[in-house]
Amino acid sequence: MIILRSIKELKQWRESQDNNIGFTPTMGALHNGHLSLIEQSKKHNNKSIVSIFVNPTQFSINEDLNKYPRNEEKDIELCKNAGVDAIFIPSVNEMYPHSDETNLIPPINLANVFEGSIRNGHFSGVLRIIIKLFHLIKPNNAYFGKKDAQQLLIIKKMVNDLFLDINIIGCPIIRDCNNLALSSRNTYLDSASYNLALKIPQSINLVKEAIKKGEVESNVLENIIKKNLLDFDVDYCNVVNYNLEPIQKIQKDSSLLLLAVRINNVRLLDNIWF
Ligand code: AMP
Repeated sequence: MIILRSIKELKQWRESQDNNIGFTPTMGALHNGHLSLIEQSKKHNNKSIVSIFVNPTQFSINEDLNKYPRNEEKDIELCKNAGVDAIFIPSVNEMYPHSDETNLIPPINLANVFEGSIRNGHFSGVLRIIIKLFHLIKPNNAYFGKKDAQQLLIIKKMVNDLFLDINIIGCPIIRDCNNLALSSRNTYLDSASYNLALKIPQSINLVKEAIKKGEVESNVLENIIKKNLLDFDVDYCNVVNYNLEPIQKIQKDSSLLLLAVRINNVRLLDNIWF
């Protein structure tokens, strides 16, 4: 596995490759969720590249940029073991050499709701780094987790709007042994908060069971979760279509339930794609 730290090195590597590249962008602190994306990339591409970059432009001022978990050595080891071909680990200066630069603004309807209404400018920052990485790496396929549902939908929209020739592949949510969706931020949870957090996947499972029994009404499904998380700080819990508009009944392959919960200031996301 080759470790690339500069854009120059990345370009040289890219020039020596053919056109079957799978790309998994990450912010490091890798876990099995990330590794599942890499596994998909390995399966469907000749070469797989992973980026590790804690992207400052997607954090707002009051967020956890400085304390975001970083573990480069372990990440490199995990990528090596996963059979990754190249790993791109640039510095902030490498990716953002100019203080004033071109920005990308995602569509308001998709980006100013849910995560976007809480994290000001977040998705603009995500698109800013993803478009740079896409231009440098020129992947055929890029892998994103369905856990970050809104991000996935916004990236698909950008690729479509800008006529990029890249397949965006959404991968299933990977959970730990207690069903909590894996996240690098789970390391912020102490054991009491972790135990509380398990109510989230329990609520998600209650909704899945209700659907199996035939329930389709959005408000009934939302209320199952809200009732189960009564003592929690729920930022949002909504059934929406892929344009993130509220809908009355769930529809197969075109709707999802978005959930964000705060436990002792740690924000945890989970969702169900119907
Ligand atoms: P991050 O490092 O948090 O920016 O995540 C990098 C990629 O991994 C994103 O596409 C995430 O959606 C994806 N990801 C994070 N956690 C999970 C998970 N538990 N299951 C599947 N994909 C995930």
